[in-house]
Amino acid sequence: MVHVNRSKTGVVIFSCLLVLSVITLSFLSERMWGGQSKTPKASGELIISEAMTVSHFSEVNSIPRPLLQTILGLQSQQDLKKRLDSFGMSEQQLLEKVKQALALQDEVSSKNWVKIPLKFGLWFLVLLLAFTLIRKGKLDPSYRRGMYFTAALIFGVLLGSDPNPMGPVKDTIALYGTKGVIFKPRAVALTIFLATVLIANKFICAWGCQFGALQDLLFRLNRNRKDSAGIFQQRKPSFLVSNTIRILFFLLFTVSTFVWAIDLIEPIDPFKLYKPSAVSLEAGIFLGLLLLCSLFVYRPWCHFFCPFGLVGWLVEQISLFKIRVNRETCTECGACKKACPSSVMGAILQDQGIKPDCYACGTCIDSCPTGAIRFSRK
Ligand code: SF4
Ligand code: SF4
Repeated sequence: MVHVNRSKTGVVIFSCLLVLSVITLSFLSERMWGGQSKTPKASGELIISEAMTVSHFSEVNSIPRPLLQTILGLQSQQDLKKRLDSFGMSEQQLLEKVKQALALQDEVSSKNWVKIPLKFGLWFLVLLLAFTLIRKGKLDPSYRRGMYFTAALIFGVLLGSDPNPMGPVKDTIALYGTKGVIFKPRAVALTIFLATVLIANKFICAWGCQFGALQDLLFRLNRNRKDSAGIFQQRKPSFLVSNTIRILFFLLFTVSTFVWAIDLIEPIDPFKLYKPSAVSLEAGIFLGLLLLCSLFVYRPWCHFFCPFGLVGWLVEQISLFKIRVNRETCTECGACKKACPSSVMGAILQDQGIKPDCYACGTCIDSCPTGAIRFSRK
């Protein structure tokens, strides 16, 4: 359970302590796990000429022979002495295939294959716990803070920045756009994440995303004991504005990867908070601003920039379990709309067709004096 001082000074001190602790502990955790490079092994220009033999090409460019054996379909060691022009491929075609194979190999070697199944297993347990609590209406403010704290601690500090729910969308587009490669495990991860959205709204964002949880926790630290209003004033930006910016940012990111082979998100990726050694000065400034904004605006990265936030928002329009209002017991007092950290509760009350993101926090359920709100299927 996380209890906080409700004064403005308390908000400042507690928030600073939280962020500093996350950075320090993440730094220690990163060292404990051992960093794994994401830099492509052969990112520079490859040296090639048609007269080269396969083994010469392999040695000059430090390309593992098994990789060339697969690309060129070599049958025996003797084939390593064949000239590159004897395989019926132009230099350009061969270079393209080698670069794609190296990019895929780099993806595989950059992953920690112990952490990934561990994190997915824990995600399943935490989401199940949150689902049970919200269904029973037991996600009170202190439980909620405790759950966000736990998510940031386990999925971020202890288990690091990767994987995270944003990765499969962002990295799939970036890898395909810049190198023409699809890394299948990401497609599997994306399917799992979107399946959780389809079942239970933005549950993975709410209780499983290490950066989303930290933003949420900061926002809640700046709220009163009932979690219904800010201590420092909090704002709800217009969804039309935030979503338009998010769509434009997504388009710009996608076009940049395909047209200029530039991954715009990588330098400012906020998940690197849990990998402090990879944070540049610019990224640090951006991250600092995001965390500061999180005190006053609900989940700024999620609402304004995150590619999974956007894709998940599209899917959550047809989620099975979501916040629903019993019109017979609702007295239209507006307490839920006031307590909801975003503009979504207003849209739910008005029964709008397209609704803003709901991060399944359960604050509206708590705030309703007549118990008219449920997280349910019907
Ligand atoms: S929308 Fe927010 S919570 Fe969801 S993946 Fe993106 S950063 Fe995480
Ligand atoms: S409608 Fe608002 S308060 Fe209710 S669960 Fe969604 S984000 Fe939270």
